[in-house]
Amino acid sequence: MKLSDILQQADAPLISCEFFPPKTDKGEANLWQCLDELKAIEPAYVSVTYGAGGSTQERTKRIVTRIREETGLSPVAHLTCVGATETHLCALLDAYREAGIDNILALRGDPPEGMDHFEATAGGFNHATDLIAFIRRHNHFSIGCATYPEGHPESANGVADDIRYLKLKQDLGADYAITQYFFDNEAFFRFMEQAAAAGVTIPIIPGIMPITNFDQIERFSAMCGTTIPDWLKTKMDPIREDTEAVQRLGIELAIDQCRELLAHGVPGLHFYTLNKSVATIAIVNELKS
Ligand SMILES: Cc1cc2nc3c(=O)[nH]c(=O)nc-3n(C[C@H](O)[C@H](O)[C@H](O)COP(=O)(O)OP(=O)(O)OC[C@H]3O[C@@H](n4cnc5c(N)ncnc54)[C@H](O)[C@@H]3O)c2cc1C
Repeated sequence: MKLSDILQQADAPLISCEFFPPKTDKGEANLWQCLDELKAIEPAYVSVTYGAGGSTQERTKRIVTRIREETGLSPVAHLTCVGATETHLCALLDAYREAGIDNILALRGDPPEGMDHFEATAGGFNHATDLIAFIRRHNHFSIGCATYPEGHPESANGVADDIRYLKLKQDLGADYAITQYFFDNEAFFRFMEQAAAAGVTIPIIPGIMPITNFDQIERFSAMCGTTIPDWLKTKMDPIREDTEAVQRLGIELAIDQCRELLAHGVPGLHFYTLNKSVATIAIVNELKS
């Protein structure tokens, strides 16, 4: 089912979960177990990221197709412009359509390993906006896009650029947006106000990152431009070596964050699971209780 329809028909905020395609058989076995466990919280859809390398990209297609065929969950396939020509993308979209996949999250993508900036492939695209317009011409998929409440690291004019390009993504055919994860709800609320003032009307679904390993989150955040607020660092610093304590606090903080977001009427919560189920299940169960 198309996510645009699911969002329109929903009478409560949607829960969704994001996964990455594992590189090993063991990792893949863990993914299927994780998906099975997460069924308990009834995600409206599950999304699978798309890596920069060729074999990773094949894995995304295989996993998304298997989710659709075997789990009863609605998959969203991430798709990027990295290393792809229009011809390649066209063939992939045809294959998704034939496999009954209705939902694509259209992204520019991160540079491949070893490169410090994005370079468009000859015969390919520069930006997610180009990919969105291309997929819309394909005329089958519900299209999602990414957006950045604290600004994408490459946005020269900060959040103002992200809002301008979010509006362009909407105008070119994006049905909804999922945000980069953030810990500062105030930044998200400011972003939502500015986006609405700029004419953005598509649902904007906040991305939630449950903290299970604070060192890892600091590394990710430095790369993707997410602020670690001082209050969060102060709480995490004394316990950062204690895995269980970090996970316990990470769950508590995510529950508080989600409660505040839900009170502000967000259309859904998108969990970056990192292929783990425990924290997301604990958070969602508490929100439902
Ligand atoms: C929910 C979510 C899922 C993700 N999944 C993946 C994944 O599966 N695989 C992966 O590799 N990465 C993924 N990413 C990371 C993403 O690919 C990176 O953040 C990437 O650097 C930017 O992608 P984008 O689609 O936002 O690009 P764009 O929207 O193209 O933005 C990139 C930069 O260009 C600017 N810009 C945007 N449009 C234009 C335009 N038309 N003209 C000029 N400048 C423009 C923006 O301000 C920004 O600074 C994901 C991110 C999010 C938030």
